[in-house]
Amino acid sequence: SRIQETLKIVIVGHVDHGKSTLIGRLLADTASVPQDRISAVQRRCTEQGKEMEYAFLLDALEEEQSQGITIDTTRIQFHSEKRDYVIIDAPGHKEFLKNMISGASDADAAFLLIDAQEGVREQTRRHASILKLLGVRQVHVVINKMDLLDYDQESFDQIVTDCQAALANAGLVARSYIPIAAKFGENIVHRSSNLTWYAGLTIIDTMDALTIEHSSHDAPVRLPVQDVYKFDHRRIIAGRLESGTLKAGDEIVCWPQGTRTRIKTLESWNLSEPPIELVQGLSVGVTLEDPVFLERGTLITNSDAPPLVGTHLTANVYWLGRNPLVMDRRYTIKITTQETSCEVKTIHRVYDSGDLSVISVEGGVPANFVGEVTLEAKQPLAFDPFAGVPETGRFVLMDGYEVCGGGIITGLAGEQSTDD
Ligand code: GDP
Repeated sequence: SRIQETLKIVIVGHVDHGKSTLIGRLLADTASVPQDRISAVQRRCTEQGKEMEYAFLLDALEEEQSQGITIDTTRIQFHSEKRDYVIIDAPGHKEFLKNMISGASDADAAFLLIDAQEGVREQTRRHASILKLLGVRQVHVVINKMDLLDYDQESFDQIVTDCQAALANAGLVARSYIPIAAKFGENIVHRSSNLTWYAGLTIIDTMDALTIEHSSHDAPVRLPVQDVYKFDHRRIIAGRLESGTLKAGDEIVCWPQGTRTRIKTLESWNLSEPPIELVQGLSVGVTLEDPVFLERGTLITNSDAPPLVGTHLTANVYWLGRNPLVMDRRYTIKITTQETSCEVKTIHRVYDSGDLSVISVEGGVPANFVGEVTLEAKQPLAFDPFAGVPETGRFVLMDGYEVCGGGIITGLAGEQSTDD
C-alpha cells in the first residue's frame, strides 16, 4: 500500500560529484519522467557524439520551465512504488542555508554525496556542519563513481572510515553508507552486479525505508491562534493546525498561560457538516469548553506534549539584513502568529555561510552569515526545538518593517527570570 505523505529529501554534494546524474537517474529509473524526454536527451547526446548524460535530464526540465511549462527545479518530484518524494535542490551553500533556515523548506532526510575518487575532503566537512546546523536527523552517505575504483570494497571501507571521523567531528552519525555508480544506474533503483559484496539497501530502498519523524497521528498538537471571532454568541477560535490532529473532547492547553480546557466543537466554513477530525495543514475553527483568555498569538497544544515556554531562546539565525545583527538593538520576532520585540542577549558564534568558517563575534552577524545566538523576547513565547516540531521551531526576525533574518530554535536558554 502506498504511503500518503510526500517525503522531502535534500542531496548535498560538491559540484561534479554527480548530484545531477543521481537525480536524473532517480527520475528515469523510477519512470517519474515520460520515456520520450529520456529518449530526447539520449538523442541529443548521441548527436554530439557523447555517452548518455542523465544529468542533462535536469537541464531539459529546466528548459521546459523557462518556456513556462511545469516544473520548479528547486523542488524536483519523483515517486517510487511506495510513495512520493520531493528533492529540495539548491545551487549552492548560501541559497541552501538561506532556504532551509529562512523557512522556505525543510528536509525529512539528507543524502550526502561523495565522489569515490576524491574521497573525504574539506567540502564533506562543511556539508556535515551545514546538516548539523540545520538539525537534519536522518543522514545517509552516498559514495558515487565506484566504477572509477573498480568497485573495490577495501577502498569503499576506507572512505567510510574517513567519513565517519569527519561526521563525528560535526556531531553527526550517518545511518548508512551506500556505494553507487550513478552514471550506470548502479544501486540507485536497480542493484549492481558489480557491488555484490554490498549487503545494504539501494538508494530507493533506503528512501522507502525512511520514516517521517511524526506521522500526523502521533505528532504533537500545535494550533497557533490567528483570530478569535464572535459568531451567534459563540467564540470561534481560528488558525492553521500546524501539527497533529484534533477532535471534539480533546484536552488542550493554551500557552503561554498554560490554561487547560477541552475542545467543544470543530467548525467548518465551507463544509455542510462539521468535520469529525482535523488534520495538520488545515485552516480550522474550534470552540472551547471554557471561556479561557485567548488572543492572536496564543498557542494551543495537547496536554501530553507541552511546548517550551519562556523569554530566552537559543537559535541559529541566517541573517539577511543590510546592517549586521547586533546586541542592544530591538528587533521583532515572529513565531507562527506570535509576535513580540526581542534583542540579542549573546552571540555565541558566527559562521560564513559560504565556507562555514568561524569569524569573530565582535561585529555582530553580517548579511549571509549564520549566528548561533541567545535571544531575549520582551514577552514569554511558546515554541519548540526545530528538531522536535519544525513548524513551531522556526522564526523570522524583522528590523522595522523589513524581514531581515530567519532562524531555527535549538532550545530554551537557561537565564529565565523567575517572574516569567
Ligand atoms: P554535479 O555537478 O554534482 O551535479 O555532477 P554531475 O551529475 O553533472 O556529474 C559530473 C560528472 O561526473 C559528469 O561528467 C558525469 O557523467 C560524471 N559521473 C556522474 N556519476 C558518475 C559515475 O557513477 N561514474 C563515473 N565514472 N562518472 C560519473
